Amino acid sequence: MNQAPFSTSCIQISTAAIRSNIHFLRKTMGNKVCLSSVVKGNAYGHGISTYVPLAEAAGVTHFSVFSDEEAWQVKAVCRPSTEVMIMGQVSDSGLDWAIKNDVSFFVFDFARLDKTIARARFLGKAARIHLEIETGMNRTGFQLTALPTLLALLKQNKTHLVLEGLCTHYAGAESITNFVRVKQQIEQFKLAQAQFKQARLKVRRHHTACSAAALMYPETRMDMVRIGILQYGFWPSPEVKLRFLGPLEGAKTKADPLKRCMRWTSEVMSVQEVAAGEFIGYGTHYLAQKKMRVATVPVGYSHGYARSLSNQGRVLIGSHEAAVIGVVNMSLMLVDVTAHKHIQIGDEVVLIGKNGKKAITVASFGELSHQLNYELLTRMPLNIARKPVA
Ligand SMILES: *Cc1c(COP(=O)(O)O)cnc(C)c1O
Repeated sequence: MNQAPFSTSCIQISTAAIRSNIHFLRKTMGNKVCLSSVVKGNAYGHGISTYVPLAEAAGVTHFSVFSDEEAWQVKAVCRPSTEVMIMGQVSDSGLDWAIKNDVSFFVFDFARLDKTIARARFLGKAARIHLEIETGMNRTGFQLTALPTLLALLKQNKTHLVLEGLCTHYAGAESITNFVRVKQQIEQFKLAQAQFKQARLKVRRHHTACSAAALMYPETRMDMVRIGILQYGFWPSPEVKLRFLGPLEGAKTKADPLKRCMRWTSEVMSVQEVAAGEFIGYGTHYLAQKKMRVATVPVGYSHGYARSLSNQGRVLIGSHEAAVIGVVNMSLMLVDVTAHKHIQIGDEVVLIGKNGKKAITVASFGELSHQLNYELLTRMPLNIARKPVA
């Protein structure tokens, strides 16, 4: 995308926060476990082209994405030696590209396996594949009953395939309500591992864990963990945070080791005085009960600031919290600065993130607008400039 050199808001990505989170993950997972940084959904909204080089600088050498399109975006900015893995969709033309560029990908059914073998044979280059096992999520993967056929095919086509991975994905490791199901999945995966072993088929890495599984079920870490949300400084769920950091009462809770990487800022566009008794903005959503001072911020729902934050949201201007008043417009919003006479045009406005001791958290933002951290982050619009900061 051709990006203009100006924008009404900016998403700052903190290099120090990324470094700190990656350090925490390495320490927690141990040195023997490969850390794959999951950057699907435009690096959970942080921007693939901004995030990938920063993660590499923090020591990451393996990235996971959902599609060939995202893999292409990672390859466009990553080091030549960095590994890229596709966990989901690969188009026909993407398949050739992936094989040629040593991008590995999940193979979860015979249709994809047949296609992969055919193209690898045609191109004269082995495809790097991860065999995904269906262990109970019932989304994608080979059933255990299909393994004898699969193993035979893999043996017959050895020259066309590099077995990079044996993997599965858990159906909700972030909630204890799924405990039995996840445990059953772990058992199913062990059965698949045993079949591979018995067939003497060596696979480079066994990997099953996302962020929540890696913390809640350490036995799922195996050779590699696929970490998304944690590296950006967010917990997969409040439950995982509580269970990892310790109880709320009694014993002292550990400090939160995660640092949020994203800070979304804009600036005051205009300031107005409004007389008591006047409605502010569209319609009758907000009535000035006293003489007020109102600042305009050039960010609206078209920029990803949810309309449901009308009369609800909060922003930081300097060290002051200011409330969103009236409805959020398409391209701007109004905030109450009555108590802060010194606030003026050009002052920085923090929509998400910290300023000094105060913070607008993604969680509070998400609760008010009824979105999950994951959803809110990945909905951060593509056309807002991402800027790395120290
Ligand atoms: C998204 C995804 C992950 C990472 O999930 P987080 O909860 O963000 O760590 C891991 N594995 C697969 C297959 C995924 O789709």
